[in-house]
Amino acid sequence: MMSPGDSSFKPNIFPHTSLERIKEIIYRGGVVALTGAGVSKESNIPTFREKGGIWDKYDISIYGNIVGLSSLLFFKPKKIKDFITDVYSSIISANPNPAHLTLARLEDDGILTCVITQNIDNLHQEAGSKKVYELHGNLFSERCTRCGRRYKNTKKELIGMINRLQSASRHEILSTVLPRCECGGRTRPDVVMFGEQLPQTEYEKAYIEAKKCRTLLLIGTSGVVYPAASLPYVAKQAGANIIEVTTETTELTPIADYSIIGRAGEILPKLL
Ligand code: NAD
Repeated sequence: MMSPGDSSFKPNIFPHTSLERIKEIIYRGGVVALTGAGVSKESNIPTFREKGGIWDKYDISIYGNIVGLSSLLFFKPKKIKDFITDVYSSIISANPNPAHLTLARLEDDGILTCVITQNIDNLHQEAGSKKVYELHGNLFSERCTRCGRRYKNTKKELIGMINRLQSASRHEILSTVLPRCECGGRTRPDVVMFGEQLPQTEYEKAYIEAKKCRTLLLIGTSGVVYPAASLPYVAKQAGANIIEVTTETTELTPIADYSIIGRAGEILPKLL
């Protein structure tokens, strides 16, 4: 069987072209990467929509927003325990894969300007990427709902939280999941839920980067979550090349100059 390690490895690219041609475009520089759940799939973090993913197991209309989660916290705390354990477990045990590492390397080499990510898993930073715009927040950060202060958590601290959660009584669940800030307010995970605003400054910076890039590399995003999915249109309109790396065609395929079909962890190292 042919594998990416073989010199004969030829990913399926359409419209048909060679990997050399794609490299040529990328090595002109001014590249911005927009990543989604697919870039972390090979780090064993399931995408949310696929079979076995979070939205396959949990009802998105309840678990995907703060109102639904708050009511579960008070009325069905066991369900919250299961949900939080599921979401956190895969993320805190994940490590960067070759796709994350390639993007960090391209930044070091001055080819890639920044990564704009919809992911909340911190894997780009762990891989060494320095300029990362997180449109949907970061699971390793908590924000006070009263004073706005942010607290950073390490993997070890989050593992401790998950362990405490398993034996937490009904009334301990709240303080384990949403601990108090020094000001007395409740903190919450610093991630964007459905119906919530994106971090404004982060989005504005990402918008500017998308508008001025020469090439936008779309990696592992279905292009259905807005406003993140509008950035490729911004880049395209400003004249950028759009190259996507995905395991299946997406909503953004029609505007891509080239779609490379395959796993990001296999394809991206081939671009170096
Ligand atoms: P999505 O789940 O809607 O789509 C994932 C895309 O990645 C699909 O098009 C799929 O074909 C592709 N894909 C799957 N495996 C791949 C691989 N190995 N290589 C390349 N492509 C692959 O993802 P989305 O567009 O990012 O939207 C989902 C939302 O859920 C995001 O807003 C994100 O915040 C959140 N999310 C984050 C994580 C994470 O932090 N790792 C995981 C799941 C979901």
